[in-house]
Amino acid sequence: MRVQAREFRSQQPVEIVVEDGKIAAINEIESAETLPIVAPGLFDLQINGYGGTWFSDEKLTVEKCLEALRAHYQYGITHLFPTLITNSYEALENGFAIIRQACEKEAWANRMVLGCHLEGPYIATEDGPRGAHPLDQVRACDWDEVQRLQAASGNRIRLLTLAPESPGAPEFITNCVNNGIAISIGHTAANTEQIGAAVAAGATLSTHLGNGAHGTLRRHPNYIWDQLGEPKLTASIISDGHHLPASVVRSFYFAKGKDGIVLTCDASGLAGCEPGVHDYHGAKFEVLESGKVVIAGQSQFLAGSGVQTDVCIATMVEMTGCSLADAWDMATINPARISHVECAKLAVGKPADFVLFEHDSANAKLHVLQTIADGEVVFGSF
Ligand SMILES: [Zn+2]
Repeated sequence: MRVQAREFRSQQPVEIVVEDGKIAAINEIESAETLPIVAPGLFDLQINGYGGTWFSDEKLTVEKCLEALRAHYQYGITHLFPTLITNSYEALENGFAIIRQACEKEAWANRMVLGCHLEGPYIATEDGPRGAHPLDQVRACDWDEVQRLQAASGNRIRLLTLAPESPGAPEFITNCVNNGIAISIGHTAANTEQIGAAVAAGATLSTHLGNGAHGTLRRHPNYIWDQLGEPKLTASIISDGHHLPASVVRSFYFAKGKDGIVLTCDASGLAGCEPGVHDYHGAKFEVLESGKVVIAGQSQFLAGSGVQTDVCIATMVEMTGCSLADAWDMATINPARISHVECAKLAVGKPADFVLFEHDSANAKLHVLQTIADGEVVFGSF
């Protein structure tokens, strides 16, 4: 396979030669045509499901899991962490076991799933920080439970979001980090000392900083400043245009720099669903006409996003004025560095996992034309 496009960083027209699933050559070419842009396949470390399927659902099946995973190719996502949120042990164990089975059944799924993200259940109990996570399943840090879940997943848990004020957090964090699980701070109402202790124990990321928080906060200190001002913490942000206003996205970006931001869509299991009210675990969620996913009956409290990482990149560029290439790095190499996995790279010898797209910067949109994974066209025509 040969693909002509403009390399996303240099904008140089290139021809990419793919052989045996790998990038065999990237040759500079002259081209008078308007070529699409080519960039490595996206990696999102927080995706909850798709099209009505939640990875946290106790009724998740291998088929539904595969269907939900495969849908992400259309958004240029070649790698992701299925994310399981606060739930009973049984539901979490089932979710991880199903993901493991899906990965064992289909080689493409095993390549796509670089790991799993356990978001909760060791989080804040308070309304606001807890977000849409069910209160009756929130519990104290439990290393024994994580080890059992890790076994169910086939050793796929690579990232865990917790609240530093959860009882036993520092020791638990050390155990996770020593066993290859990166720790992210989120859904928290922690004080300065608790956040400092979590960082000292090895936490390296903040989960969707600025969301999963109280509606009203003391001006300072508070847990947003404490994380924003901590250089050892990279910040993941949901730059979908709904979760954070532009001034906040800019402030986070200026504080952390291009290497200190991870873009995530935190897509809800309702992403890709028609507008309307949907039931999940007895709770009602609503997909609004705008595509926002909210707790039903109001429009302020969001329940994950209804869009994917491609939209978050376009919005990040629009809100901050950062380059497309820098935003792309925030959804590829930055999350990969934090979670110690290898994402797609546009380089000779690497697996051919890349995406061809157009960037409509005037309207802050990316149009994914084609996605290639492991040298195969998995979305779009060729
Ligand atoms: Zn969350």
